[in-house]
Amino acid sequence: MTMNLDELNKRVSAARKETEARGETFYPGPSRIHLAAFPPKERWDDWVELESKAWPERKERRYMLVPTTCFNCESACGLLAYVDRESLQVRKFEGNPEHPGSRGRNCAKGPATLNQVTDPDRILYPLKRAGRRGEGKWVRVGWDEALNDIAARIRKAITEDRHNEVMYHVGRPGEDGFTERILAAWGVDGHNSHTNVCSSNARAGYQYWMGLDRPSPDHANAKVIFLISSHLETGHYFNPHAQRVIEAKAQGAKLIVFDTRLSNTATHADFWVSPYPGSEAAIVLSIANYLIQNDLYSREFVRRWWNWEEYMAVERPETQTTFENFESALKELYANYTFEFAAEESGVDAHVIEEIAKVVSTAGTRFSSHNWRSAAAGNSGGWQVARTLFMLNTLLGAVATEGGVFPNAWNKFVPKPIYTPPHPPRWNELTWPREYPLAMNELSFLLPHFLKEGRGRVDVYFTRVYNPVWTNPDGFSWIDVLTDENLIGCYVALTPTWNETAYFADYILPMGHGSERHDIHSYETHDAQWIGFRQPVLRAARERMGVKVSDTRLVNPGEVWEENEFWLELTWRIDPMGDLGIRSFAESKKHAGERLSVDEYYEYIFENSVPGLKERAAEEGLTPLDFMRRYGAFEVKKKTGAIYEEVVPEEELEDFRVDNFGRVYTKAPKPASTNIVPIASPDPDAEGRRLVGVKVDNKILRGFPTPSGRLEFYSRTLADWGWHDESIPTYIRSHVHPENLAEGQTVLISTFRLPIQIHTRSANAKWLDEIAHTNPLWIHPTHAARIDVRTGDLVRVETEIGYFIVRAWVTEGIRPGIVACSHHMGRWKLTEEGQRQLMATVSLDQEGSRWGLKKKRGAEAYSSSDPDTRRIWWTDVGVHQNLTFPVHPDPVSGQHCWHQSVRVRKAEAGDAYGDISVDLNLSREVYRKWLQMARPADKYSPDHTRRPYWLLRPLKPAREFFRLPEEQQLVSAD
Ligand code: SF4
Repeated sequence: MTMNLDELNKRVSAARKETEARGETFYPGPSRIHLAAFPPKERWDDWVELESKAWPERKERRYMLVPTTCFNCESACGLLAYVDRESLQVRKFEGNPEHPGSRGRNCAKGPATLNQVTDPDRILYPLKRAGRRGEGKWVRVGWDEALNDIAARIRKAITEDRHNEVMYHVGRPGEDGFTERILAAWGVDGHNSHTNVCSSNARAGYQYWMGLDRPSPDHANAKVIFLISSHLETGHYFNPHAQRVIEAKAQGAKLIVFDTRLSNTATHADFWVSPYPGSEAAIVLSIANYLIQNDLYSREFVRRWWNWEEYMAVERPETQTTFENFESALKELYANYTFEFAAEESGVDAHVIEEIAKVVSTAGTRFSSHNWRSAAAGNSGGWQVARTLFMLNTLLGAVATEGGVFPNAWNKFVPKPIYTPPHPPRWNELTWPREYPLAMNELSFLLPHFLKEGRGRVDVYFTRVYNPVWTNPDGFSWIDVLTDENLIGCYVALTPTWNETAYFADYILPMGHGSERHDIHSYETHDAQWIGFRQPVLRAARERMGVKVSDTRLVNPGEVWEENEFWLELTWRIDPMGDLGIRSFAESKKHAGERLSVDEYYEYIFENSVPGLKERAAEEGLTPLDFMRRYGAFEVKKKTGAIYEEVVPEEELEDFRVDNFGRVYTKAPKPASTNIVPIASPDPDAEGRRLVGVKVDNKILRGFPTPSGRLEFYSRTLADWGWHDESIPTYIRSHVHPENLAEGQTVLISTFRLPIQIHTRSANAKWLDEIAHTNPLWIHPTHAARIDVRTGDLVRVETEIGYFIVRAWVTEGIRPGIVACSHHMGRWKLTEEGQRQLMATVSLDQEGSRWGLKKKRGAEAYSSSDPDTRRIWWTDVGVHQNLTFPVHPDPVSGQHCWHQSVRVRKAEAGDAYGDISVDLNLSREVYRKWLQMARPADKYSPDHTRRPYWLLRPLKPAREFFRLPEEQQLVSAD
């Protein structure tokens, strides 16, 4: 909460009077403000605080407070950098109270940005490989040399029509769409993301319902909150959501949490359920069945917004298409999902499930729910966890209501950029193979197998804040291909810090942390639309002092750059004369013939594409860019409400027609809009009319961006592309269902995060490392007793392709018989070079198909520019379990299904902590087994396309490239 300056001054005067009345000397506080929650924004140019190190002397220090956006997870919370006015160094980061999503609050990882900036082990200069890949020999090179070499390779690939050999693989994207547009400018279909090892299953579940792939729950106003994830602890939009969940709880909301492990979130729940992994959808469907059989759902909402007519017409043509008949069908479809059935599948007491169902039934339209990684990411068929959970919202009518769940794109704002290059004229099968036509994202984690099979090669491979060797399953397969220059010609790692994959790079190019780069962000943290601005704070501070900075490298440490300037410069150098038609997308509009600057790029967006920003900035006598540099965030809209109920205006209904299912197609062109809020499926009708809305009770309304324009209880897409049995919300038995486990096997949950670490990016934050640096195996006391293991004992965890040795942690916080291990830990380095606070030094061994990793040394104290590195007291940095996991692509969504069927036993003589052993022949076998489960487009596509056009796809190729080449158009086996 910010406080009005007059109010603060009044408080200071009152405090002064009180103190002086007692005969004491009054110290008005360094900033002459008494007990302010946050520095008021009027004082951000000159804020005074006492120097903590000078205590007890009262030494005042003056700061400039410069906003930016945290980059330590996807939440994009606001930060305020405290820039010392004397030294122009950042002294600390705190929350930005002007940020509508985070409202001044951060988790521990936000302030720890300071550690990352001052990390003595960070990479400060561009490095080029000097020895063999992975040998650990590097030479420092200039940016010019690196840029010219990489640009020349890309230009050659483009001019030789080898566009598909250029690939950009991203972990955490910066700005929505920035790099996709760069790749589109180059004309390459080279975007590759981490999403299929992260959230694709959840995305699929949501997308098949509402056409958009993320939920936006209005937790703060909910009466009942249902989380299949650990939101309060580490989940999606962690801090912005967590603070709103707690607000709702303070107002009496009930919190239901499904998590096999006792997470911090579960400890705050009114109902914590610890189901057998993979059984979540069975429980949720039993709750849905309770609502259905007892007529506790919103009939009106279901009648108006579900695509029940399409379901009845296609699936039950013998029955008259009436809503009453559909309701009978619905009762019949879900009748078997009883509480008893759910109890049998999940091991959760039927009475507990019934009690939860009753609580859900009381929520009405104030029912917020969320599932993201968690059970969705763990299980084959996990996408039905999200699909069944959102079904509860659609039954209750809690969609885009206060306290309900919104489609994400309605609660985020993506401004139009200065240039929008055309869709690339090609399709890259290395990332979008025809086996997975419905995959939510690129089959990124299968790349090593595809390369090994000879499906193609990559000439220039970029990773950006991504570490596939460590993050992905089957990391040895990545090392195998990264060390083969015939398969990957040149590997460029764009990274702020050392990581396991970067060791195998040809170039390591240092990129800035959250306070050292530009990006625009907007996320669905609540029912509003906002944009946040990430900026290099020392650049903004200097500009506030009147110094113009034209290149972020001038203010960053060493030669650390930012990606937006890097990509613009690289694009320029690929096509310096403009003969390839690429340069124009990186050219200034103001100064023809010059490269576009980031100032002009953002100036254009803030002036032309953000409604209300110009006016708001003018109130303070600022330009829109200056306003964003000063405050870091802007709220575009407060409540977006139920966009699907909006009436389509007359002017959008030119020569329109309405089809059998009420879909309204128009000849009117799409209205120019300042941002992209998807409101209709992109699929046109046979006469080229676009879908503009749906007819509901004689009104033409916006509807949802699905093929039917309604919420799709029945997915015709799934039915038509070979997944008929899964076309309605249903329960799919997971690959770790008991019937799929061999004798003596159990389930390993490897997906959970720790609240104070973030994947592969926070090892360079000493405060976080001190708090969390290891990942023991959670095991229940009954299970531990069975295998004669105590806390601290070494255990061997055997997966399908190898094993790892880890220490046991005996705890009642896990379901008996199931084990769990956090994936954040087990960082390693091969040489002395690297991040020394959280990386063990290891040896990497290979003999035939057998690969192994052995720990040589753990973390240890060392001398550096930071005296704290001499105080490192921990040696254990955990175990890299992901190396021992084979790939498990879900045949529908393409998501890697993380749960592992394992055997857990006492370590053998000779086993040492951190040992890893893997057989790549076995890894290849498992890959082939899962590939067999896929239903390829060649065989199942109903229209000779590679993929339904309406499904989201980052960097969509031009529409004609969705068609399968003529010779592959086989008639569907169905
Ligand atoms: S939740 Fe924490 S790590 Fe994520 S953006 Fe916010 S402060 Fe940063």
